[in-house]
Amino acid sequence: MKLILLGAPGAGKGTQAANITAKYNIPVVATGDILRAAKSEGTELGLLAKSYMDAGKLVPDEVIIGLIKEKLASDSCKNGYILDGFPRTIPQAEALDAMGAEVDAVLSLEVADEKIIERMSGRRVCKCGASYHVVYLPSKVDGVCDKCGDALYIRDDDAEATVRKRLETFHAQTEPLKDYYGAKGLLVTVEGREEVEDTTAAVLAALEGVECGK
Ligand code: ADP
Ligand code: ZN
Repeated sequence: MKLILLGAPGAGKGTQAANITAKYNIPVVATGDILRAAKSEGTELGLLAKSYMDAGKLVPDEVIIGLIKEKLASDSCKNGYILDGFPRTIPQAEALDAMGAEVDAVLSLEVADEKIIERMSGRRVCKCGASYHVVYLPSKVDGVCDKCGDALYIRDDDAEATVRKRLETFHAQTEPLKDYYGAKGLLVTVEGREEVEDTTAAVLAALEGVECGK
């Protein structure tokens, strides 16, 4: 299965990507995680991405497209993948088409802006990719990752002003992708629920209906 996860920042794409990977045994390619890793390693890509990310802006298309091209060509992605955070603009979607990707479905996770702002203020993340919320999805030990035991931290771009800017960017540049994929008959919409498990159930149910390799 080749799947795209679409949704506002903080809609819960990362959490759902983890559930889908576990069930379908296909890797997640999360551009935000790749960029954050590059940032903390201080690579050329990381230095370039940092200024955009911390301002709530998108990293330039050509940078992200190059990165995805390389990832999708790798062996780990040959049986399918889940794209989390890509494409985020129409040119990125067109580039994916040009790579001959032929995705099976685009799952849009719908969450209202106000809800997102409330959620992001409580988000805590780990270097291993795990993500928690102080109220909705707390770690077992406060400030410590359940999966790897590392210290949790608040992402640089989770400050409220940056979150508002990221939402603006989402509505202007990413939301048009719903029409883009809707027109191709690939769009599947799922409402984000109050409880993470309810959202998970809705997502997995929606995927049952997806036909692969049509
Ligand atoms: P979120 O979905 O919560 O905003 P991500 O971890 O997916 O977070 O992305 C964090 C930041 O990384 C984005 O705000 C953006 O600056 C950059 N980024 C990630 N994916 C892309 C992409 N496909 N195109 C451009 N920038 C991206
Ligand atoms: Zn961890």
